[in-house]
Amino acid sequence: MSGKVRKEPLFEKITIIGIGLIGSSLARVALARNLARTIVLADRSSIVCQRAKELQLSSSVTQDIAASVEQSDFIVLCVPVGATADVAIEIARHLKAGAIVSDVGSVKGAVVDALQQHLPSSVSIVPAHPVAGTEYSGPDAGFSTLFENRWCILTPPENTLYADVEKVHAFWTACGANVEQMTARHHDLVLAITSHVPHLIAFNIVGTAADLEEVTQSEVIKFSAGGFRDFTRIAASDPTMWRDVFLNNKDAVLEMLGRFNEDLAALQRMIRWDDAEGLFELFTRTRAIRRSIIEQGQETPAPNFGRGPQLPDQ
Ligand code: NAP
Repeated sequence: MSGKVRKEPLFEKITIIGIGLIGSSLARVALARNLARTIVLADRSSIVCQRAKELQLSSSVTQDIAASVEQSDFIVLCVPVGATADVAIEIARHLKAGAIVSDVGSVKGAVVDALQQHLPSSVSIVPAHPVAGTEYSGPDAGFSTLFENRWCILTPPENTLYADVEKVHAFWTACGANVEQMTARHHDLVLAITSHVPHLIAFNIVGTAADLEEVTQSEVIKFSAGGFRDFTRIAASDPTMWRDVFLNNKDAVLEMLGRFNEDLAALQRMIRWDDAEGLFELFTRTRAIRRSIIEQGQETPAPNFGRGPQLPDQ
């Protein structure tokens, strides 16, 4: 992989708990770039641990979550948001004083609360959210370049030591990410509109299409290239992860959904009253947003998401 391999590791010992898409990607990049002298991987599932060994993600893979954090300097929870409290309770008594505990959860307020409630005050809490991912799960889905040129948002609680925030910042930079810092509350509001509500819309539209009686299932699949197919990719995302996101970011999602519903009602009115100018003006504004996402390197400019002409429905 490209990117700088460090001469001296950033940490003596890192523990990654949860060896799925994100955890295994972190393990791969940490190994490739020499980010720690020792990398311990832990997961509750024996099948996942076995697979992590076969993939040679680390020489130290264990199902013993509590033991995995002993003498570790940096612990990253890569489990679904809803499992944060359970893992925090499991590791609390085994953390060394001065260790930094972080995570990668897509929701931050609930994670900060759970970590602050269950972890001892002798450790530093520096939560993080890499805004990078795919619709796949598990250790085989990970890859070392997942975080390259993607944003990683840090949401340290107010009293966190500056030096510890800097260490986590350096870690994510070494993984290839661009790092930004904000409060957990602001993170949850921003991600509600940029990630959580779009996923909800995809889950909803794919569910609605599946329930339609006048249109057959085979027609939905056959003509999916008209736009539906792009929603199905998002709607194929991990059910456990997304259940936990909505249950743990309730307030921000409901607030953004309220705004969304108002705007949808306005759009409905424009169609009903033949407001051609209104529709054209809105679609021109939305097209400009797509352009700026491409300009900032967060998406490919290739037509049709870079899909080649070899696809059967092209
Ligand atoms: P994933 O591929 O499903 O991996 C999660 C792993 O954690 C699984 O191996 C799971 O084991 C394990 N696990 C669950 N509960 C556990 C517990 N109590 N103790 C130990 N291990 C446990 O999920 P992921 O996509 O990597 O997501 C992990 C985190 O990253 C989530 O918080 C998510 O919000 C965040 N995130 C995801 C994305 C994305 O696009 N996927 C992007 C950014 C951030 P089991 O299979 O036995 O449950």
